Amino acid sequence: MYSQRLENLPPYLFARIDALKAQKRKEGVDVIDLGVGDPDLPTPGHIVDAMVNAVKDPKNHHYPAYEGMAAYREAVAGWYNTRFSVSLDPAEEVVALMGSKDGIAHIPEAFVNPGEYVLVPDPGYPVYSTSTLFAEGRVHLMPLLEENNFLPLLEDIPGDVLERAKLLFFNYPNNPTAATAPMSFFDEVVAFAREHDIVVVHDNAYSEITFDGYRAPSFLEADGAREVGVEMHSLSKTYNMTGWRIGMAVGNKEVLSGLGRVKSNVDSGVFDAVQHAAITALSGPQQCIADACTVYQERRDALVRGLSDLGYDVQAPKATFYVWMPVDDCMATAARFLDEAGVVVTPGVGFGESGAGYVRFAITRSVERIQEAVERIGRIGA
Ligand SMILES: *Cc1c(COP(=O)(O)O)cnc(C)c1O
Repeated sequence: MYSQRLENLPPYLFARIDALKAQKRKEGVDVIDLGVGDPDLPTPGHIVDAMVNAVKDPKNHHYPAYEGMAAYREAVAGWYNTRFSVSLDPAEEVVALMGSKDGIAHIPEAFVNPGEYVLVPDPGYPVYSTSTLFAEGRVHLMPLLEENNFLPLLEDIPGDVLERAKLLFFNYPNNPTAATAPMSFFDEVVAFAREHDIVVVHDNAYSEITFDGYRAPSFLEADGAREVGVEMHSLSKTYNMTGWRIGMAVGNKEVLSGLGRVKSNVDSGVFDAVQHAAITALSGPQQCIADACTVYQERRDALVRGLSDLGYDVQAPKATFYVWMPVDDCMATAARFLDEAGVVVTPGVGFGESGAGYVRFAITRSVERIQEAVERIGRIGA
């Protein structure tokens, strides 16, 4: 009944954990869910207020322009300028997205012919691979290993793959490893993309969730980045707006034009009221971001300290709301944490083979709940 395209998708590896979680809840277990990468903190009030006002205005009730309102694209350009000192032409170098997932899901259709390769980080956000498969491209996985600071070794990609490679996805600060990348790696990506004529897509969803004074760069800060690719960013993680579905692709105008041509045939743009709220988010006070980072940092410290005290080998990340912890068998650990402690973590293999030796904790729950999770994990023993 289903298309080959659907049948070819990789198996959904979280199914077993999902089923166990549902069963535990049914048994009345007070499950602590550290599995979901969705902020528990609310969208800041001034952004919600802007939405309420905008939704009442009938001007905003029509089909939006797929590329985004001029005022939204100007707000994105303004934010990039303030935040990264990157100047963008709002008319041609900014496109509105329904969250970055929208951009990631559609960009292979614009650049990848059947059988051509897309270079995808392993472990990584699953949509990089599925969007490639939907476009009938081939996925070449680039392992992210701890010994390489979770950066891919571009020189390891075989020549026959490079000849037919069209697109490269990468993502720092990284989900799920929580790794960050130095500017020198971004420079390396620019040189690599130029040499092999590959379109680069940097997924910068976590640039604002950083700790200990670390500031994450934009890929577009690298010299020549704008000639080789685009960056996707989103209000989801930055302003606790995952449900609102708004983000942006910025950078190379020909690449954006290709993505725009796909999108104009698929969706009809982001609801104008949501764009007005996003303008308020991007142009208004940014203190809410610092406040959220303070909250995540306390949680990170509670979790890392607690797990270290229990004897687990775990590092405090400089960015993202994830903690990536090495374990012997990620499926067994995740199943055991859930079954015996009522704590949900994500088995790393769900993000790719190279994630198999890890579990991911999402610190999207309160310090109290995180402390209780650690206590319960302590009780079941190592
Ligand atoms: C959350 C996330 C996204 C998607 O976020 P949107 O809500 O679609 O903007 C993209 N990439 C990574 C790595 C993420 O973790």
